[in-house]
Amino acid sequence: MRKLDTKTIVVASHNAGKIREIQDLIGPFGFTAKSAAELNFIEPDETGTTFEENAKIKALASSQASGLPALSDDSGLVIDALGGDPGVYTANWAETADGTRDFAMAMQKVETALEKAGATSPESRTARFVSVLCLAWPDGHTELFRGDVEGTVVWPPRGTQGFGYDPVFKPEGYETTFGEMSAEEKHGWKPGDPEALSHRARAFKIFVETCLEA
Ligand code: IMP
Repeated sequence: MRKLDTKTIVVASHNAGKIREIQDLIGPFGFTAKSAAELNFIEPDETGTTFEENAKIKALASSQASGLPALSDDSGLVIDALGGDPGVYTANWAETADGTRDFAMAMQKVETALEKAGATSPESRTARFVSVLCLAWPDGHTELFRGDVEGTVVWPPRGTQGFGYDPVFKPEGYETTFGEMSAEEKHGWKPGDPEALSHRARAFKIFVETCLEA
């Protein structure tokens, strides 16, 4: 496992919600981190069929464009009753005809698919959020970290915090959706804590243990 020996990195993302969460998580470690969006890097096509492949594509593109280590996140919502959909295509389900993203529409699409599948009881609506973080260096070396969090898809959407599909995801053991949680509650982790809550914070904790700590 390669350690990260610089405090200047690129957050390889164009997604404002993810950038905010990754900036929150790396903040306490004293990094100077610009995002691929701020640096006007072109968003690479996510041609992979796994979270790992797409995370690598994004991290390598930003690392090679900047000459710095880059940290990407590829994530999505995996719903059992939908055979794992939307999965790696979670962002695509939100795409509109004019190329923007509409998450109210995407959540409605998920709900319509669940109803069609007959998944109306909470037990039949189990799902997990998955995040794969990739740290890439300009020489092409990569390290991958995966986190997931089990939960249930609820309807109607609840809460206005977070981003994306947060209002319809209720993590196991909680009564509130991610959309009803503050960023701190959703991460459920700060440096030194033994456990994290969100998929992204769980993956980030492994990144810290692997690449930052001695
Ligand atoms: P991608 O990783 O850029 O391909 O897109 C991931 C998709 O999953 C985006 O559409 C996000 O909105 C959604 N997603 C990933 N993580 C979260 C999360 O923490 N909350 C809500 N939606 C998420």
